[in-house]
Amino acid sequence: MLKIAVLYPELLGTYGDGGNALVLSSRARQRGIEAQVTAVSLDDEIPSADILLLGGGEDGPQRQATFALAKNGALAQRVNNGAILLAVCAGFQIIGTSYEVEGGLHVDGLDLIEAVTTRGEKRRVGNLLTRVGERWLVGFENHGGETQLGDDEVGLGVVSVGAGNAKRAASGDVVDGVRRGRIYGTYAHGPVLAQNPWFADELLSAALGYQLEPLASVADELHRERVSAVGGVEASSLNY
Ligand code: GLN
Repeated sequence: MLKIAVLYPELLGTYGDGGNALVLSSRARQRGIEAQVTAVSLDDEIPSADILLLGGGEDGPQRQATFALAKNGALAQRVNNGAILLAVCAGFQIIGTSYEVEGGLHVDGLDLIEAVTTRGEKRRVGNLLTRVGERWLVGFENHGGETQLGDDEVGLGVVSVGAGNAKRAASGDVVDGVRRGRIYGTYAHGPVLAQNPWFADELLSAALGYQLEPLASVADELHRERVSAVGGVEASSLNY
């Protein structure tokens, strides 16, 4: 049984990122793998799931979620014990060193990765397209924060359209999100896994410990169309 847990959807559900759980469970089940999705509320224990999901949210709920996660203390332990973590936007900021909310208040993050988020001059709203290895990750960003990764951190992908972290990484690139071991962070909503089926399969494969066979579906075609529309990339050149 593959266990997927959505953390604090009542606080971090604003941008529909809970849909990532539906995509993961559906793609697992279509391969005959039983999957269970649990919504974890503020007072619940963080379960020992295979995949943990943190979504985006506005500044107030984001702070509330951060305090609850810090008090609970179990997230880092779950990841250290082998859980995959996908953290989107506010979730990505929460797992970093610190972030700044509107009004200039700096909030301590969970320190799972080294990343400092400050307020940008303008809110970044629009399409986001990043290159992740051989693939394109497409989504939608909507955030006021700009994130500087620590020198030892690696972004999830290199930004082609949009802002992503908006700050230059040690590599000199403007990157989106972070990738460290079992931790994946991104600014991409969508939900990101609905728009990028290959990425859902990457997370599933990482959680299961073996490479899943591709699962052809209309989602692949929609992905190619989105990448093409956002990036001006020829859809026919995307042969995956
Ligand atoms: N509150 C954060 C920001 O504006 C995150 C927003 C989000 O999750 N979309 O930067």
